[in-house]
Amino acid sequence: MTLNILTMKKRILYTLCLGVMMMIPCTGIRGSDNSNVPFAIYFEDKTMRLDYFHSGNSDQEHFAVDRIVSDGKWAGSKTLLNDDLNLGLYRFEIFAKENDVLLFSEGFASIFGEWQTTGEAKKEWGAFHESIRFPWPKKPVKVVIKKRNNLNRFAALWNTEIDPGSRRVNPEDLIQANNIFTVMENGPTEKKVDIVVLGDGYSKEEMGKFRGDTQRLIDAMFNVEPYKSRKADFNVRAVETPAPVSGVSRPHFGVFKRTPLSVHYSSFDSERYALTYDNRTVRDIAAAVPYESMIILINERTYGGGGIYGLYASLAADNAFSDYLIIHEFGHHFAGLADEYYTSQVSYELDEKIAVEPWEPNVTALLDKDNLKWQDLVKPGTPIPTPWEKGAFDAYSISIQKERQRLRETRAKEEVMEALFQKEKEKEIEMFSKMKYAGAAGAFEGAAYFSKGMYRSAINCIMFTRDLTFCPVCQRSISRVIDRYTR
Ligand SMILES: [Zn+2]
Repeated sequence: MTLNILTMKKRILYTLCLGVMMMIPCTGIRGSDNSNVPFAIYFEDKTMRLDYFHSGNSDQEHFAVDRIVSDGKWAGSKTLLNDDLNLGLYRFEIFAKENDVLLFSEGFASIFGEWQTTGEAKKEWGAFHESIRFPWPKKPVKVVIKKRNNLNRFAALWNTEIDPGSRRVNPEDLIQANNIFTVMENGPTEKKVDIVVLGDGYSKEEMGKFRGDTQRLIDAMFNVEPYKSRKADFNVRAVETPAPVSGVSRPHFGVFKRTPLSVHYSSFDSERYALTYDNRTVRDIAAAVPYESMIILINERTYGGGGIYGLYASLAADNAFSDYLIIHEFGHHFAGLADEYYTSQVSYELDEKIAVEPWEPNVTALLDKDNLKWQDLVKPGTPIPTPWEKGAFDAYSISIQKERQRLRETRAKEEVMEALFQKEKEKEIEMFSKMKYAGAAGAFEGAAYFSKGMYRSAINCIMFTRDLTFCPVCQRSISRVIDRYTR
């Protein structure tokens, strides 16, 4: 689950403040291009981590530096330094202070960016801790954080300068006390996607279980394309953080705990949205190994998790659908994929026309139906939009959502919920198999929490249902991100 798309609705409704943001000058800064500077001339083989507080409300946002520290060896590519994927609600860019040459850039999303679209942000201020990580510059740099404006183009929001030789920059690596273990090692970090797996709510006695859960869920993910074919492009390492108690906070169930990573269900008051806001602690723990991507296993059976592009994917390790959860949430986190579903509790009826194309690669507002972003995958003669039996699907899916809500309200056992999801999955697969355009690429209405006006590329996908297969568009989007780290 992710709420990225909701930010788009916010942009439609609250363009005024974004208009102000767009007026922030960024003169003197060379625009983004696809060039990449020689790594060794500008950077040390080390990771700089800028920790900052991101605060605001529904109308405004502010940044304040917390600290600048070392996160150990640089795990990313040393040749592809400028991110040309154009993903994420935000983007940061690092420029050489002496001549404004673009040295590094990366798209990302954040918990603040999602929180800003909630009702709570209309009533009060919030502050979230965030980090951006980039190769350690040899000379002073300018850091610019950008956000998409009402046209979905990046505009500068905040900037700061960092002199790596100054007293405010701490170059010492953190001395790590936690045990680490390797799940999969396929080559040098700079040529591989490096994933770190953390666990929360695992007691000291459950470290064996954490190792078993990690192996089982990583195996499940690499059993699905495109990860299956590209397994050799990944390294996976895990860090143990034994907790004093077993399990994590589940506020909707009246359960509260204090655990090392502070993962909790009920994020944004959604009972299944399980995140940690303790970014500082999580980043310090993750820095025990080189990484670009992060998975947090939650030692719980209660269905839930979350995935934020560039931050982490989290999931309940003991749920009967944990295989689905890791693949789906990692899809959000790693490739910026949107949810393709639209009948769940976070959905709402679209009451205005979608004015901009979403940045997520797997959904479209179909503003230009002759130029689909996955046009090359559509067979000639496929009607756009592509017809499917939406009415029958909606009626069934909404009935399941109602039953799901009833089960949660009556605190039904998790196995009852899991049985409902299993029944739903089997019925959906049966319904889809009889549809004319099953398996074909097209533009199928209903996606990203919008029942109307938003389209997905295929009838079925793991970003839509719990069937363990990515649609061709999602597969290609994931492959492109793998390329970014391995080229
Ligand atoms: Zn998909």
